[in-house]
Amino acid sequence: MPDASAPSTDAPSIAPLAADDVRDEVVTLLRQLVSCDTSNPPGHETQALAIIEAFARDAGLDTERVVKEDDRANLIVRLRGSGGGPSLGFLGHLDVVPVDREDWSEEPFAAVERDGAIWGRGTVDMKCQVAATTVALARLARAGFEPRGDIMLILVSDEEVGDAEVGAPHLVEARPDLNPDFVIGEGSGERYDTPVGPVYLLDCGVKRSCPVTITALGETGDASLPDIKRNAIHELGRLIGRLEAWESPTVVVPELEGMLDVLAPGVEGDEERVAIARRAHPGLDQVVGALTRTTFQPVTLESPEPLNVVARRATMQVQAIALPGVTRAQVEAEVREALGEGHYELEVEEPAGGLITSPDSPLRDAIEAFLAEHDPEAQLVPALGYGFADCHLMREHYDSTTYGFIPFRNADPMQNLATKHGADERIEVEDLVFQTQAAHFVAQRIGQLTA
Ligand SMILES: [Zn+2]
Repeated sequence: MPDASAPSTDAPSIAPLAADDVRDEVVTLLRQLVSCDTSNPPGHETQALAIIEAFARDAGLDTERVVKEDDRANLIVRLRGSGGGPSLGFLGHLDVVPVDREDWSEEPFAAVERDGAIWGRGTVDMKCQVAATTVALARLARAGFEPRGDIMLILVSDEEVGDAEVGAPHLVEARPDLNPDFVIGEGSGERYDTPVGPVYLLDCGVKRSCPVTITALGETGDASLPDIKRNAIHELGRLIGRLEAWESPTVVVPELEGMLDVLAPGVEGDEERVAIARRAHPGLDQVVGALTRTTFQPVTLESPEPLNVVARRATMQVQAIALPGVTRAQVEAEVREALGEGHYELEVEEPAGGLITSPDSPLRDAIEAFLAEHDPEAQLVPALGYGFADCHLMREHYDSTTYGFIPFRNADPMQNLATKHGADERIEVEDLVFQTQAAHFVAQRIGQLTA
């Protein structure tokens, strides 16, 4: 781990990217990527990957595919370092979540430009960052910038579903030597206008996912005699109601103390601090709410009996998203408390995730230095992420200093939160330009560090 936090003076600097100079190039690349339908399932990410690969080679960057399945390849793009400095990886995924076309006001894979934004699936999550970092690296390469450590793009398939084992899980197994010192991936980056000024959160680690299976138990019998036996589906209905009504207790983990100090200065008591932080912005109401308790979300229901028989078993899968440090036993105890008495079986899997990166690092310094120049009023506030991201694997396998951060300087955070797995996902062109400038700045700053 390098300890230098300021750029050394002898490495030559490249001029900052001017918005007018880079806008067309990054918009064109993003539109090409969005036009590839990489909905997962099934993915077909290689078509989008090939566009990045060709673009990167044209700029003189090294490229290397890491493939388990031809149609679902991963790609490493590299601006080679001269040695003696830390490496940096921009981690991105090329798959997107599927669309419900009837909910969209634009064709989701046409990458239409309208009202100063590019509309389409993946524009926010996260082909914007893929386009921005690719153009940033290409610009550094064309300008002859020579970093000390390698600057990489690490582009993976199958992030959104993640169970095909072809994306990040394959990449870390196939390339144990990749070992980036620093990684920036997805997570946070919305700009919240709050009573204490504009705030960007820095995602230093995500909560733990913990799949829970609840099976309601009934008694088999004739479906035409409504009162003769206990129906498992009725029982499950009661349990679902209790789970929905459950209020998980507020918990402030140490990683969020700093965020609450900023958003609720001088306030005593965790309940009150969290309440004030949530009131700072409607987006923070959602995000802070998710980061200060375990959340339970039913995701599937199933009952296998035939139509003429009272259901004997009915099963519900629940995603429990727990705070870092929460154990399987604690999740189980909370679910039992929420469900109360009833006829059911409960299975709670071992939670995954929850690794945290220290918020103090040269990478955070580099991001702050960028914001100081380009958005000087705003504060960067270390926090956690609320959903799973492949960043976790970079922490787990490489022990990389890893943050989730893609800055959206202009967008209404509520628009991002509501559209990124929903309809009418779109990115303001000026945010795409800002992301490109940020990547160019941070890559250069890290590239100038000595080990
Ligand atoms: Zn994503």
